Amino acid sequence: MKRMVIIFLMIISQNVFSWDEVNNGGGAAEGTLTYTFLNVGKYIDLCLSSDICQISEREKEILSQIKGSLEEEFAQEKPLIFISESSNPGTFIIDGEIKIAKTGSAVGGPIYFNLDLLYFKNNLGIYESIDIKTAIGIIIHELGHHHNIQDHSFLDALGAKVALGLNKHIQVSSFFSFNDQLQVIVLNEKKDNSFPQILLRVYDDLIDISDEFKKKLKCNFMAFPNLIDILPGISISFKRPKGAVFHNIHWTNNTKIEKLITCTTVNPDKCFDNNKDVHVENFYIKGNLSNLCDKDATLFTGNKDYRARIKFSAYAYKNKSNTFKFKFKKGSVKIKQLWEPWWQIISLNLINY
Ligand SMILES: [Zn+2]
Repeated sequence: MKRMVIIFLMIISQNVFSWDEVNNGGGAAEGTLTYTFLNVGKYIDLCLSSDICQISEREKEILSQIKGSLEEEFAQEKPLIFISESSNPGTFIIDGEIKIAKTGSAVGGPIYFNLDLLYFKNNLGIYESIDIKTAIGIIIHELGHHHNIQDHSFLDALGAKVALGLNKHIQVSSFFSFNDQLQVIVLNEKKDNSFPQILLRVYDDLIDISDEFKKKLKCNFMAFPNLIDILPGISISFKRPKGAVFHNIHWTNNTKIEKLITCTTVNPDKCFDNNKDVHVENFYIKGNLSNLCDKDATLFTGNKDYRARIKFSAYAYKNKSNTFKFKFKKGSVKIKQLWEPWWQIISLNLINY
């Protein structure tokens, strides 16, 4: 069989949001809050365009005001500041209560976050950080204060509604059963001309692979499916879809250890927490892909025969408290679109006979 492979060489840019370690938690919460802050406009739009949000006219007006001043908020040198209440006693005490965040009443004023409350121990005693849905609630609350809203409970309710709107569009899949530090987070806006927003959380790092993913999507002109997972499908593609939805996302079981690195003075960038032995592990994520290829395709009629596979690598090492931890390996993300039409299931069964 002739194999035709078209290789697209692309300049890949990965945005990695990561921060220095704090206390026992790591920098994951700071990364999540910064990412959410920079995407707040998109999350407000999801709420405004979805009935699930059930917002009143007044709430709608406030969300529009928040959205309207985002450019000014983003233009500040340090819009978000992270400090600990225990190291700065009294900073976050408002009306006798310790708050998770605070800000002033003017657009562009910095938002202060209380590091002590951004990390918590889960039921198994493992440190976790707040997630995007919690982060959006806090950020909407604080940005609301910038528009002269003093009522904290009103802003809590508004933040919760935006979080609810986001929750409807987001799929989160965790690799581990005992913590949420290794995750894929996918947001599908489910509207025409939109592409999935995809984030990898690898402990302290939050990696935005949305642009890279979008560049890999294509519409098949002629294709043969990949019958077995290890063989690539054959496809000839010229067109790019006008939109896509990535769903049914799961980690596949072919995660494997690639190699062992012994950290020395020659490769100090591979030494984490003074570890001698660091493993490189490969992770695979797979999901269904609905590409809008035809000119008049909609989310209902889009081609459902596509899949996408995301591969990335991470350094595995034991941290100071002797538990395993992962560090994302920069530039390791590889994305592949697969074509797996429904009748492939039948042909696979025949082969198995
Ligand atoms: Zn408040």
